Amino acid sequence: MTDGYAIETHGLRKTYGSHHAVNGLDLAVARGEVFALLGPNGAGKTTTVEMLEGYRKRDGGEVRVLGEDPQRRTLAWRARIGIVLQSTGEFEELSVEEVVRHFAAYYSDPDEPARVIERVGLQDKRKARAKVLSGGQRRRLDVALGIIGRPELLFLDEPTTGFDPQARREFWELIRDLAAGGTTILLTTHYLDEAETLADRVGVIAGGRLIEVATPASLGGRGSAAAKVRWTGPHGPEVRDTDTPATFVAKLVDEFGGEVPDLVVSRPSLEDVYLSMIKPTEDQ
Ligand code: ATP
Repeated sequence: MTDGYAIETHGLRKTYGSHHAVNGLDLAVARGEVFALLGPNGAGKTTTVEMLEGYRKRDGGEVRVLGEDPQRRTLAWRARIGIVLQSTGEFEELSVEEVVRHFAAYYSDPDEPARVIERVGLQDKRKARAKVLSGGQRRRLDVALGIIGRPELLFLDEPTTGFDPQARREFWELIRDLAAGGTTILLTTHYLDEAETLADRVGVIAGGRLIEVATPASLGGRGSAAAKVRWTGPHGPEVRDTDTPATFVAKLVDEFGGEVPDLVVSRPSLEDVYLSMIKPTEDQ
């Protein structure tokens, strides 16, 4: 174990009865990195994240989060991490401003509540009671509470579920902004575009094991996969797989004497490679 990592696990395990929910997981997330955990329902993502947050006891393995064993959950350590929890409904009668102030009081050096409210895009709702917020606005409030303590490491479990497309984009901006400020971020998501946009690296979990860790662009050999060239020829739609798409397209341009109708050059999407990776284990 080294202090160079924000998160480091070796052989992490959690068993429920005879079910190995997390089955020997080795993970290393560098400080300042945005790391996305992907995996099908029941793969073990939430169990893993909750063990890293110190909310769930592990059955085996070693874990260091910001250099400490999360199971100790010391006060000083907890002040350095941020967790975006699902709303508890505990503060329904308080205004957005009051809830954020209330949480700020738990920290010795919190961020400015007004600044955080603006960062999550709730400035127009700062006087509104929590109970009247829409689902997406409620989630923004959850995020505000996760970052009010200026965490070094932020955990986000499916942060944008239920967001409209614009809210997701704004949320992504916020995450980029936090990452640019040096915050390490571990997020779980089912949205492949979210992982691709935000993450420096993604880890795919299936059956409680990490089956691959890579950049979004190179996962599953994606970066070196053959390109698909599609176009419409004199006899209808055409498609070719090629390792040299530029040369192939140049030939097509020659043949057509200019623009090639409906020309598209593509490589496998992150979703394509992800789905092929989890196929053998998705029925577990
Ligand atoms: P999702 O994408 O659906 O949120 P996940 O990857 O987060 O899934 P986990 O919630 O970590 O998956 O669950 C992993 C496995 O452990 C599942 O089979 C789940 O049913 C099981 N599990 C989780 N919590 C418990 C529990 N408290 N008791 C028994 N089994 C549990």
